[in-house]
Amino acid sequence: MPAAMQGELQPTIYRFRFGDFEIANILDSKVVRDGPYPAFGGERPAEEVEALCRANRIDPKRMEHPFIPTMVNTGRELILFDTGNGALRREHEQLRNRSVDGHLVARLGQAGYRPEDVDIVVITHGHPDHIGGLTEGGKPVFPKARYVFGAAEFDFWKRGESVRDARKFNRELFMQIAVPLADRASFVKPGDEIAPGIRAVDAAGHSPGLLAYHVESQNKRLLIWADTCIHYVVAIQRPDWHIDVDDIKDKAAETRKRILDMTATDGLFVAGFHMPFPGLGMVEKSAAGFRWVPVAYQLNL
Ligand SMILES: [Zn+2]
Repeated sequence: MPAAMQGELQPTIYRFRFGDFEIANILDSKVVRDGPYPAFGGERPAEEVEALCRANRIDPKRMEHPFIPTMVNTGRELILFDTGNGALRREHEQLRNRSVDGHLVARLGQAGYRPEDVDIVVITHGHPDHIGGLTEGGKPVFPKARYVFGAAEFDFWKRGESVRDARKFNRELFMQIAVPLADRASFVKPGDEIAPGIRAVDAAGHSPGLLAYHVESQNKRLLIWADTCIHYVVAIQRPDWHIDVDDIKDKAAETRKRILDMTATDGLFVAGFHMPFPGLGMVEKSAAGFRWVPVAYQLNL
């Protein structure tokens, strides 16, 4: 008898030591979508975007879109950056067909973390795939945690002025899921330190108050850039091209270029929420823009 096919088996947890810290990237889930074009570079000719995909040996018509929260254990506090999709699909009729179920809590369990161990939950921005895992059935998923939100981001969603049509439902979700947690939250601005060695960095554009986080321990430096770049080829090699899910498109492009330049110049490691798993890499300058260099063993030594 020939051996049976066993089905896909792919890694979902990647943990490494980083100075005095321990960091884990955990795959909440992933989806396959049409594209990159026209979601990426929609203002360009389709052939141009598709040619860039082919040059990078990826399918120009279908793309994988992963969701990867980051856990940082500083030795004093366990800090989770973003909560993935959570129960969005199960709990919200409107999202049933386009959302995904999150597996974050189950996979945290496999990695040895219980929800009640999490001291701080940091929300980089208010989009569904980042806040969806905050609550389930109306109850906080991380019962002992306090929360950190960007002040400008929280204020934008709470006030609800100038929310574009495509994000109206997102605003309702934010009111339902995030706003009730305000009494256990602190609200930070770029430059603020949220724990020793971890400070907020302005990355506004993809959302009005998106914050990245610079993590430093024993001279090792990593940027949790969240959704600054959400495709490892198109958003990085052509940072000027528009992305349909960016709330402020020109500002998002400006921010991408600034952050890409900083990460390349300073040689920072990057944890990217939507980069290919394990969502860890570095950025190199190239003739036309930049290039994503996935980690090999640099973080294992
Ligand atoms: Zn996202």
